[in-house]
Amino acid sequence: MAAERLDRDPEDVRARRQRVAEAFAPDGALARSVPGFVARPSQREMALAVFDAIVERGTLVAEAGTGTGKTFAYLVPSLLAGGKVLVSVGTKTLQDQIFDKDLRIVGRALGMQADVVLLKGRQNYICLQRLNRAVGEGLHETREAAGHLRTIERFARASASGDRAEVSTVPETAGIWHAVTSTQDNCLGADCPQFEPCFVYRARRRALTAQVVVVNHHLFLADMALRDERFGELLPSVDTVVLDEAHHLPRVGAEFFGEGWSLAQVVELASDALAAGLHAARDGAPWIELTRSLEQAARAIRASLAQAGLAAGARVALERAAEREQLDSALGALWERAGRLNAALQSNAGRDPELDLLAPRLQRLSAQLQDWRNATVKPPSAEVAADGVVRWISVSSSGAQFQATPLSIRESFVRARQRTAQAWILTSATLTVASRFDAFLGEIGLSAATRRWDSPFDFQAQALLYLPDPLPSPNSERFAEDVADAAWPVICASGGRTFVLCATLKAVERVAARLQELMRETETEFPLLIQGQGTRRNLLQTYRSAAGAVLVGSISFWEGIDVRGEALSLVVIDKLPFAPPDDPLVEARLRKLRAEGRNPFIEFQLPQAVTLLKQGVGRLIRDEKDRGVLMILDGRLLSKSYGKTVLDSLPPFALTRDLATVCRFFRGS
Ligand code: SF4
Repeated sequence: MAAERLDRDPEDVRARRQRVAEAFAPDGALARSVPGFVARPSQREMALAVFDAIVERGTLVAEAGTGTGKTFAYLVPSLLAGGKVLVSVGTKTLQDQIFDKDLRIVGRALGMQADVVLLKGRQNYICLQRLNRAVGEGLHETREAAGHLRTIERFARASASGDRAEVSTVPETAGIWHAVTSTQDNCLGADCPQFEPCFVYRARRRALTAQVVVVNHHLFLADMALRDERFGELLPSVDTVVLDEAHHLPRVGAEFFGEGWSLAQVVELASDALAAGLHAARDGAPWIELTRSLEQAARAIRASLAQAGLAAGARVALERAAEREQLDSALGALWERAGRLNAALQSNAGRDPELDLLAPRLQRLSAQLQDWRNATVKPPSAEVAADGVVRWISVSSSGAQFQATPLSIRESFVRARQRTAQAWILTSATLTVASRFDAFLGEIGLSAATRRWDSPFDFQAQALLYLPDPLPSPNSERFAEDVADAAWPVICASGGRTFVLCATLKAVERVAARLQELMRETETEFPLLIQGQGTRRNLLQTYRSAAGAVLVGSISFWEGIDVRGEALSLVVIDKLPFAPPDDPLVEARLRKLRAEGRNPFIEFQLPQAVTLLKQGVGRLIRDEKDRGVLMILDGRLLSKSYGKTVLDSLPPFALTRDLATVCRFFRGS
C-alpha cells in the first residue's frame, strides 16, 4: 500500500485518533486479531501520545517500562496517522522482531498491508562491481576463499536482495566478504557500470518508495549526518521518525559523529590500490613497491604502539600514551608514503574510475594523519581539548584504531532535528533516572515533550530485590570471592538458572573460579558458562538449552538478551556498573563537565550506571508469569546518598535482606 498522507482536517484527525484508541480497547482490533493480547491502559495512553506528536510534528521522548508493549504503541499510531515512517532501532534482535513479526501482526490487525522495507548498511549487500573484479582477477588467496567466492557468485546471480545474511554457508567472519562488499570510499556510485542492478542502490530506491522503513541507529545517523553522500535522501522523505532503544543514541552518536581511521583501513587501501593499479595502469607506477611500503609503515605504527606498552585490548587517550615522539615519527613515515602513492595516482588520473576513487581516500587519510601528528606532539593538557574532541587509540591483536570522538552530540542532533519538519518519537525502557529525563535530554540536546509509563508487571508479587546482610565490602581484596560466597546459597536455592553479572572481566574470572571451587566442595553441579569461553551467542544458546545453568559474564551481557520464563530466575550483580573512570572517553567527559563547573558524577556517571542497571533488571521479568530475584552485592546502595536514587530508579521490587525469605520465594511459598 502506498503511503497515504495525513489529512490535516480536524475531523480526519479525530477519526484516526479514535481508531488508535479503539485498536487498544479490550475488544479492539488488536484483541480480536492477536492471540493473548492484553489491553493495557498504559499502552493505549502511549499510542495516543505518539499519535498526537505525529499530528503536531513534535518531539516526544517516552519511557515505557518492560511489558508496556511499546512497539505496538508506536506502530499502530504511525500506520493509522498515514505518511511515511522510519523506525530505527539499536539492536539486530529488535530490528528482526519488528520487521519479521510486529509489523505483520499490526498490519493484519488494522486491516492494512503496509509496504515495509528493512534497509541495512551497505556492507550487508554484495557489491556486484567488486564481485566481478574478484572473480575476474582471482583475488582469492586460498582454496577455501575460492570456494566462498564461487558460492557468493552463485548467490548473487540468483538473489533479488543481495543480502549477505542469506549466504549461510560462508562464515560471517570470512575474509572474502571484504573483497565483495563496498564501502563508502570505494563505491563508484552513479559512475558504476553495475549501478542499475546494484543491490545497495536497489535497496535504497525501494526504501524511498516504501511506507515503513526499518533501519538501525548507525544507518539513521549516516542519513542524518549525510555521512554517506549518496545516501542523504531517505530522512527528508519521511513524516514520522521513531527511534526505539533510544538510550543507545548518545553512545552510537558519539561514535558516529567522530572521525576515525585504522591500520586495517590503510592495508585495505593498499590492497585496493594494488588491484586497481595493476588492472588499469600496470605501466603507470611501481604499484607493488608503493603499496607494500604503505603496508610496512602501517605495521611499524603497530610496533611502535607495542613498544609504548599498549597490548591488544588497550584503549588510551593520545595524551596519555607513552613514547609519543616515536609514534609521531611512525605516523610521519606513513604520511610520507601515502603522499608518494597519491602522487602516483595523480599522474594516472583519468585512466580508470576505480583508480580515481583512491586519490580522495588517500588525501583524507593524509589529512587525518597530519591532524594526529599535530595532536601527538602537543604537550598533554589538564584541560579538555579546545575542539571538544577526545583523540584516543584502541589496540587489537594486529591493528589499531585512531578515533577522534566529540564529547557532545547535542549540536549535531539539534541541527538534524531542525532541518526537518517531522514527528520524532524517541523511546526506550530506560531513559530516566529516578523518573527524571534530564540526563538523557541533556545528552541529546533536544527540547521535547516527555512521558513515562511504569512496567505493568506486579514487581511486588513477581520479584524480590535481595541485598544480603552484611554486604561484602567492595574495597576488600577478596571482594570477588565474597560475591561468589554470598551468591552461592541463592544460586542453590534457585537451582542454577542464574546470570552473575560482574563489573569487570577480571571479576568474571575470579567469581567463576570461586563458584567452581564451591561446586567441588559441596559436590553440587550446575552447568557453568563463563564469558570468554565461547561467543556470546553460543554461550546464550547453551544457557537456554542446559537446565539450571549459571552464566558468569560482564556488563556486555545485560542488553539484547531475552531469556523468558524459569530459565532465568536469579540475576546477581556484583557492583553498580559505573563506567571505568580511566577509559579515555569517560575520563574526557568527566573533565569536560568539571571544567564547566558541573557535577560529572550526578550528570554523567550515575545516569549511565542507572541506565545499564535498569537494562540488566529488565532481563529478569519478561512477562506476567515470570518470577525472579535480583541480588545486588554493592554496599554503596545503602551507604551512599546516591544509593536511594539508584533504588528509586528500579521497578518497585519487594526488598529483603533475609536469605530465608529468598529461599521461600523460590519455593513459591
Ligand atoms: S554502485 Fe557501488 S555498491 Fe553498487 S555495484 Fe557499483 S561499486 Fe558496488
